Amino acid sequence: MTSTGFDYRAGVLHAEEVPLPTIASAVGTPTYVYCANTIRHRFHQLDQAFHGVPHHIHFAVKANSNLSILSLLRSLGAGVDIVSGGELYRALAAGFHGRDVVFSGVGKTVHEIAQALNAGVQLINIESEAELVTVNAVAERLGVIAPIAIRVNPEVTVDTPHAYIKTGEKGQKFGIPRDDVSRLVACLPDLPNVQLRGLGMHLGSQIGNADPLRDALPRLLSALEQARAAGQPIAFLDVGGGLSVPYEAHETEADIDDYARIVRAAALDTGLTLLLEPGRFLVAEAGVLLTEVLYRKHAAGKDFVVTDAGMNDLIRPALYQAYHAIDPVVITDGAVVADIVGPICESGDFFAKDRAVPDVQAGALLAVRTAGAYGFSMASNYNSRARPAEVLVDGEQFAVVGVRESQEDLVRLERAPLHWRTA
Ligand SMILES: *Cc1c(COP(=O)(O)O)cnc(C)c1O
Repeated sequence: MTSTGFDYRAGVLHAEEVPLPTIASAVGTPTYVYCANTIRHRFHQLDQAFHGVPHHIHFAVKANSNLSILSLLRSLGAGVDIVSGGELYRALAAGFHGRDVVFSGVGKTVHEIAQALNAGVQLINIESEAELVTVNAVAERLGVIAPIAIRVNPEVTVDTPHAYIKTGEKGQKFGIPRDDVSRLVACLPDLPNVQLRGLGMHLGSQIGNADPLRDALPRLLSALEQARAAGQPIAFLDVGGGLSVPYEAHETEADIDDYARIVRAAALDTGLTLLLEPGRFLVAEAGVLLTEVLYRKHAAGKDFVVTDAGMNDLIRPALYQAYHAIDPVVITDGAVVADIVGPICESGDFFAKDRAVPDVQAGALLAVRTAGAYGFSMASNYNSRARPAEVLVDGEQFAVVGVRESQEDLVRLERAPLHWRTA
C-alpha cells in the first residue's frame, strides 16, 4: 500500500516530516492537514497510467476547492472540472485558464453559462435539451460559439457504498439518457451558437470495481458514433471521475492499471483526447482532520469520546454513513469501544459508532483519516461554529492555506438593524 503521507515516527503521527502536534500547537484544532507529496504522487500515478494516450486530468474542484490545493494541481498540469460559477471563480483565482476548465452540472444558471463563455472554457457539459437551448441563446447574445459536450447517462448498474453517490443509473437526474442522445444531436443544426466537441459521462463516486465502466463505455462509444455520423466535430471523450480510495483497512486501493487498461483501449480507438475528472482519488488520502478530545463520557453503559470537531466540519459520516479510520496522534495504550462524537446538537453528529479505539483521554489529539476529499468543501457553520483551518504540508514545511473563520465572520453578511424597503 502506498503511503498517504501520514506515518508514525517514534510513536507520533507525522504529516510528511511535520509532527501533527506541532501543527495543532501552531494553528489549533480542528484543522484539516493535507500532504502535498501525496497529491503529487496520486496525480503522477494516474497521469502515468495514461501515458501514450492523449489525455488531460481535470480535477473535480468540489472534492477540495482550497486555492492552494488548486494551485498545486495546476502546477502539476491538471485542469479542473467545475460545477458552479463559484468554482469557476476559484479556478481562475488559482491561475487556471478558461481552456483548462470543463463545466459540469445539471442546473447551470444563465449567469453561470455567460461567466463560463466569457472565461473561454474548454467544454460545457450539457445535461438536458432545455439547457442546450439556453446555452445556445446565451452564446448568441455574447456573439460566441459555445463548445459543448453531451453528458450521456449510460444507465448502467453502479455499485457504490451509498446510494447518494450514484449518478450513472437509470432514473438519476444526471446526464442525457442514452436513448435520447440522437434526438439532442438532431437539434444541433438549428442551434448555430453551439458546437458539439465532446461526449462524456460520470458514473458516480467511490466506484469499487471496473464493471460499471466496462458496461458504460460501449454505450458512450455508441453515442459517439451517432454524433459523428451527424457530422459533429468531436474532439474529446470524457469518462468522468469516481475512482475509489480505501477508507477502511480491509478495502483495497483502486486498481488504476485495470481502470486505465479499459479506458485506454476505448480512447485510443476513437482517436479523441481523453478527459478524466477525478476528485476524491487525488486528494482524499492526502488529508486528515486533526481534532482534540474534549471529554470522555460514560452514559447508559456506553463510552463516548467527545471531540472538538463536529459534523459541520466533516459531514460524510452523517450524510453517507461513511466510515473514516480514526487514530490517536500519539500512540496510546489501552483500548475502549466508544462512539466518537462531535459537539453538535444532532444525534447524527458522530465520526464513529462502537469503534474500538485506544484509550485516549481529554486533551489527546485524534486524526480522522482520508478527509482530504469532501471534507472542508462540505463544511458549514451549523451551530454557529466557525469553519476549521486548513494546513498544507510539503516535506519539512507547513503553511496555513485556509485561515480558521472568526466569530465575526459568522455574522459578517447579516444585517441588524434592518434597512426596510417599500414595495
Ligand atoms: C463529483 C464529480 C466528479 C468527481 O467525482 P470523484 O468521485 O470525486 O472522483 C467528476 N465529475 C463530475 C461531473 C462530478 O460531478
